[in-house]
Amino acid sequence: MTSSWRKRVSDYSGAQLRITYGLSEFCEGNAWECPACGFLHFPPTVYVEIDGFGTTGELILSSLFPFSQVQLFLRYRTGDIFRRRDKCLMYDDWGYSFLGRKDFCPSVVGEAGEPAWISPLSVAEVLDTLDLGDHADHRDLHLKVQARNLTNRVFEISKLSESDAIVKVSGSATEEQRSLAKDELLRNLGVAAGALPRADLHFDFVRRDEIANPFLY
Ligand SMILES: [Zn+2]
Repeated sequence: MTSSWRKRVSDYSGAQLRITYGLSEFCEGNAWECPACGFLHFPPTVYVEIDGFGTTGELILSSLFPFSQVQLFLRYRTGDIFRRRDKCLMYDDWGYSFLGRKDFCPSVVGEAGEPAWISPLSVAEVLDTLDLGDHADHRDLHLKVQARNLTNRVFEISKLSESDAIVKVSGSATEEQRSLAKDELLRNLGVAAGALPRADLHFDFVRRDEIANPFLY
């Protein structure tokens, strides 16, 4: 859920939302969203690793005592891309954020060979930032949620080469919004401008029927 939609659902329902992350096959490995730092914390019953470049990559979990006595997982690859954040001052623990399923997050490679994963969630955050003006408002939110289609837009992410990817979004946008989308996506991916000189990310706004594998947005 993007931050914009999180606010909409909170405003509409009056409820405070908290995100959790868990795997049905992994006992006692659920992470919960911290009210202090806003990121996910894993319980002390799992050992957490990130396999990637720097602080971002595939989440790997190992079960610790006492659950390791019942069902032992050693360096279990979750297939999910996570980013490790700063250490939380309140709980003295690392915070993590979920980026997306590895299979749905194409990566482009930067100057030093570092990959940047382009997650659907990051793209949705960027599209929210653009304020394209076709979101549902609060009054018809429940109908939109029931229909599982929050706007009329869909998008897909395609990798063109090792350093080149394109995001196709249905509908139209101005030249300025296109440019802003690219800058915002780099910022959302945690990549400083100019840090991916070999990589190129494009936004293309096209007819809906030109999008083969759409993510609803
Ligand atoms: Zn925290």
